[in-house]
Amino acid sequence: MKKYFHLLILCIVFTTTTKAQAVSAEEQKIVQSIQKHLQENLQLLQKMVDINSGSLNIEGVKLTGDVLRAEFDKIKFRTEWISMPDSVKRAGHLVASVKGKKGKKLFLIGHLDTVFEPDMPANPYRKINDSTVTGQGVEDMKGGDVIIFAALQALYENGLLNDATITAYFTGDEEKTGSPLHVSRGDFISRAKEHDVALAFEGAIGSTIATARRGIGGWKLHVYGQQGHSSGIFQNGYGAIYETARILNEFRVQLGQEKYLTFNPGIIVGGTELHYDSSRTSGTVSGKTNIISPTCIVQGDLRFLTYKQRDSAIARMMRIVQQNNLKGTSAAITFSEGLPAMEPTKGNDDLAKLLSKISVELGYGPITPGDPSGRGAGDISFISKYVDALDGLGAEGWGGHAPGETMSLKTFERQIQRAALLIYRLTR
Ligand SMILES: [Zn+2]
Repeated sequence: MKKYFHLLILCIVFTTTTKAQAVSAEEQKIVQSIQKHLQENLQLLQKMVDINSGSLNIEGVKLTGDVLRAEFDKIKFRTEWISMPDSVKRAGHLVASVKGKKGKKLFLIGHLDTVFEPDMPANPYRKINDSTVTGQGVEDMKGGDVIIFAALQALYENGLLNDATITAYFTGDEEKTGSPLHVSRGDFISRAKEHDVALAFEGAIGSTIATARRGIGGWKLHVYGQQGHSSGIFQNGYGAIYETARILNEFRVQLGQEKYLTFNPGIIVGGTELHYDSSRTSGTVSGKTNIISPTCIVQGDLRFLTYKQRDSAIARMMRIVQQNNLKGTSAAITFSEGLPAMEPTKGNDDLAKLLSKISVELGYGPITPGDPSGRGAGDISFISKYVDALDGLGAEGWGGHAPGETMSLKTFERQIQRAALLIYRLTR
């Protein structure tokens, strides 16, 4: 017992010493600056959350951008607003940058918009208890936006940005991206290419970080059958609806168990008289129980981790659609591109290791790559093939995209510290 006790003391002394040695004096100053500004940065967050900035609320997104832009002006970033043509029906983007010659060139990603439009019930910034706040976009991702700013503010205050190249890019339409994509993301992509590393501040999930995100595509299945009297269905032809059932079931049986691959038939319309608008995923249909259905349409999504996985899935789905059709039926399927995948790479993994090392040295424990299935899509996917990339550096919270979304106050400062030291070390 006594021996054990001595060992324990030794351990404590040892860990304290290594911690002190790991985070340098300069880095400790960064941590102090973050603490000094924490309350005012939470007020900045409140101000941003209390402005409605649904993706389609152009004025609100611009106003949110103005609030953040004023803060970046104070820390001597060059700020600019990237406007969109009226036809895109989106607000545009805020860009804040500094240019230098040292270290890696960093591209930091946030977004100003939320899924909550002005006609939805409001949810002003409010403390639920000592460790939790609620408000629209507080976690997704105005919290992450403020983390980006607070980290850079602490570096600025300690004179550590003088020779760094950093672009902080806040899109105004992440939740409902404007089209065409080459207009709404053209500037974003071309600027990102001039950098070495992209760090995105979508919500954090526990002690994990995203080194990969799944891509999204779409598919549309069109099935045809011979119309006829229902009494002859098993002799003359099975009709479009039975064939659609066969195809969807084969999709599920043959591909449904593959890791990271999902495909969801989101809407189905089948019968005799059919009108379908795929851009609105909406349609009307009529039919009769005594008529064999001549037509059926299904539209769905397809989520994948790598392009190899996507292409293999497409090949197998096409085979199911084209082969073994039930008597008197035929089918065709088309695939569309959606959001690219952020594929797992060694460069991304190395960034995750550096972040984990920093987290341990700050006394918060290790961070590991999270499960890519646990996240939706994000802006970083547009550019991850050009740079090393990490996502999920933002605020920790719960219930994003739903009324009552919350953010953890307990881990907010920690997230700023991790981000600031990561930016610091990468720009040395
Ligand atoms: Zn988001």
